[in-house]
Amino acid sequence: MSRRDQHEDAGLDALLAGAWQAGADAVATALGQMGAVWSPDFGAYASGQLDASAVRCVLCGHAPCDCPPFGTAAYLALVDRLHGRAGERGAR
Ligand SMILES: [Zn+2]
Repeated sequence: MSRRDQHEDAGLDALLAGAWQAGADAVATALGQMGAVWSPDFGAYASGQLDASAVRCVLCGHAPCDCPPFGTAAYLALVDRLHGRAGERGAR
């Protein structure tokens, strides 16, 4: 690979990294506006400091996740608690 090619690749890498970051920021903003809650370990995982297997589940707080089956009453209770809606679902 010539010096010129390497230079152009470096420029492309920077361009792609910038585009990826802009996209990631837009997604994070949109999710935040929808009330998404992130694992406290997400930043460490996203920056490569933590393996995915060590990221604690945002619902049960365990790594690996040991949540009740998706959609069960116990699972939905965890979701409600996470979003500060304790008891709401039962009141409906
Ligand atoms: Zn879990």
